[in-house]
Amino acid sequence: GHLDTRVPTRGGGELARLSQSFNAMAEAVQRSEERQRRLIADVAHEMRTPLSNLRGYLEGLSDGIVEPSRELFASLHEETLLQRRILDDLQVLALAEAGDLGYTKAPLDLADLASTSATAHRAVAAEAGVTLTADAPAPVWVDGDGDRLRQVIGNLLSNAIRYTDRGGQILVRVFVAGGVAILAVQDTGVGIDAGDLARVFDRFWRADPARQRATGGTGLGLTIAHRIVTDHGGSVEVVSRPHVGTTFTVRLPLLPPSSGAMF
Ligand code: ADP
Repeated sequence: GHLDTRVPTRGGGELARLSQSFNAMAEAVQRSEERQRRLIADVAHEMRTPLSNLRGYLEGLSDGIVEPSRELFASLHEETLLQRRILDDLQVLALAEAGDLGYTKAPLDLADLASTSATAHRAVAAEAGVTLTADAPAPVWVDGDGDRLRQVIGNLLSNAIRYTDRGGQILVRVFVAGGVAILAVQDTGVGIDAGDLARVFDRFWRADPARQRATGGTGLGLTIAHRIVTDHGGSVEVVSRPHVGTTFTVRLPLLPPSSGAMF
C-alpha cells in the first residue's frame, strides 16, 4: 500500500531536523522495498515463459497430442537449463548487491586472461562462422578476482559471438592507456540502437527478446559484468552503431607498483 510514513517538519530547531532525517530514512526504506518488489515481479515474469513452455509440452505429451521425440526432449531439457542459468545469475547478482560476492583479489595479468578466454571461445565462434582474434601482446597487471574477471570477459565474448552474423569478426584487445588497464571487445555485429545504449546494463533488458531467447541468454550477463567491474574500481562503456558493430570497453585500475620495488 501507499502508507505515508512521513512526519510533519514545520518549524525550526532540533525537532524539525530530527523529523527531516526520519523522513529521509522512511523514503529510503520505501525505495528499497519498491526495488525489491520490482525485482520479484521481473523474476516471476522471466521464469514464467520457460515454465509454461515446459508445462505445455508435458501436457501435450500426457494427452497424446504431442509425439515424443529426441528433439522434443532436447528442447525440454534446454528450457530447464535456461531456468537454471537465470537462477544462477540471479544468485550472483543478489550476492553482489548485498556486497557479499567474496572477491579473492590477487595480482593478475589481464592480457593473459583475455588471451586464454579468447582461446576458450574460439570453437564456439568458429561454429557461428565468426573470427575471434586476441591482441594482447604485453602483460597488463591488475589487482582482481581471476574467476570473476574471466566471467566478465566470457560474457562480453559470448555476447559478441551471439550478436554477430556469420562472416563477422571479433577483436579483443588489452593495453594500457591514460594510466589504466583497458580491455576492449569489438565486434562487427548487429549493433545496438542509440536509444537503447543506456539500458544494456539493466537487468533482463534485451534489444530483441525473441533473438535473445533463441540464443539462450538470460538478460543478466551485462548487469553482472558491470557490477563485477565497478566492484573492482573500474568502469564499462559501450559504443555501438546498428549494422556496423559494437565495442565494449572495460577500464580497471593498474596494479600499483609495490612500494618496496621503488626504493
Ligand atoms: P543476454 O545476452 O543474456 O540477453 P546481456 O545482459 O548479456 O544479456 O545483454 C543484454 C542485451 O544487450 C542483449 O540481449 C542484446 O540485446 C544487447 N547486447 C549485448 N551485447 C551485444 C553486442 N555485442 N552486440 C549487440 N547487442 C548486444
